[in-house]
Amino acid sequence: MKVKFWGVRGSIPTPAHSTDSVWKLEKIINSALKARLEDNKSIRKFIDELPPYLLHPVGGNTPCVEVRHGDDLIVLDAGSGLRPLGLELNKDAVFSESELYLAIEAGHKLTQYERREIDYDGIHLNFLISHTHWDHLQGFPFFTPAYNPDTTIAIYGRSDEELAKAFEIQQMAPSMFPIALGDMGSKISFNTFPAEGLTIGGLTIQAMPVPHPGGSLAFRITAEGRSMVYATDYEFSSIDSDEAGDFVNFIKNADLLISDTQYTYLEGAAREGWGHSTSFGAMDLAMRAGVAAFYMFHHDPTHDDAKLFANLEKTRAYHTMMSGRAQMAIELAIEGMTLEV
Ligand SMILES: [Zn+2]
Ligand SMILES: [Zn+2]
Repeated sequence: MKVKFWGVRGSIPTPAHSTDSVWKLEKIINSALKARLEDNKSIRKFIDELPPYLLHPVGGNTPCVEVRHGDDLIVLDAGSGLRPLGLELNKDAVFSESELYLAIEAGHKLTQYERREIDYDGIHLNFLISHTHWDHLQGFPFFTPAYNPDTTIAIYGRSDEELAKAFEIQQMAPSMFPIALGDMGSKISFNTFPAEGLTIGGLTIQAMPVPHPGGSLAFRITAEGRSMVYATDYEFSSIDSDEAGDFVNFIKNADLLISDTQYTYLEGAAREGWGHSTSFGAMDLAMRAGVAAFYMFHHDPTHDDAKLFANLEKTRAYHTMMSGRAQMAIELAIEGMTLEV
């Protein structure tokens, strides 16, 4: 399976602050003044040794993760990261994105012919939606493949009715969005995730309800003996609870766990009941389950790159302290990052 992060931020899209590049540049120049930079080789070495938060913006789009296996494509959540994924899927389109949005802005109802021009040929997409909170749906009205009548989209979540209502509401009235869901053009179906699980091509998928205000679903996806779990927006009252025990079984020996780690350990104490995990709490469960790789996800909007990378280091140190050795790969989910599972 190939996994790509299109949106990694929790709660609300969080663009980089306009002053970020200034303070980062200042730090880089200060370090450069102390370094002996004589040739390209020493410059390259200097860059490679810079702290990652100066070079790798974590990204501000809300949750959207692409999972590919052969020709099968699964989209996990439809946060604002869905927009750039749609542009990638539609890169050969006859209409540019700006032309499409100009038409949308003008309240222009696309004719059957114009819709056809937007895209090349149809694609089939499967969406797995953890829950219908705004940050997990808000990218859908800007998902250009959904404007192509040759595209079919099957959306799975906790309940078909709940999904249909939530997707319609965000576009229902002209005061909310100029194009109604039914006028987008593609064939969209809403489906309750089957209790027995789901098979899509060579992928098998299981879902587990996890505690979150209003509820949320975690998904385990398996192909050719490899498995990954997408578990965002969850909080267990105690890591020793029965629910947490069920979750440990659900994530058991996963090759990859993408986990909610919205809060640092200290923040978590003040935000009990808000529905999100601390990186240490999620790590405790991952260690019990023997997870191979742990990717921190649903980053808090108030955490800048420096804070996120600092918390990554603390989480790695916590894992080493608790397990006695560094055995798990621990990383931040970063927008644009691609993984092979
Ligand atoms: Zn969320
Ligand atoms: Zn939520």
